[in-house]
Amino acid sequence: MAASKRLIRLKCPQCGTPIEWNDNFPFRPFCSERCKNHDLGAWAEERYAIGDREPELDE
Ligand SMILES: [Zn+2]
Repeated sequence: MAASKRLIRLKCPQCGTPIEWNDNFPFRPFCSERCKNHDLGAWAEERYAIGDREPELDE
């Protein structure tokens, strides 16, 4: 069943480094753990900033 072996190439969404979708890149779609953590951190930081913003209520 060699036909089922496909090579999927993509780029790290964080830094653009070309990677392949296989066990050589355990942090896919990111190229490394560093890029993966950076992306999650940015997402969490943005979410926190939005949630932390207090609306101005004039009661
Ligand atoms: Zn990367």
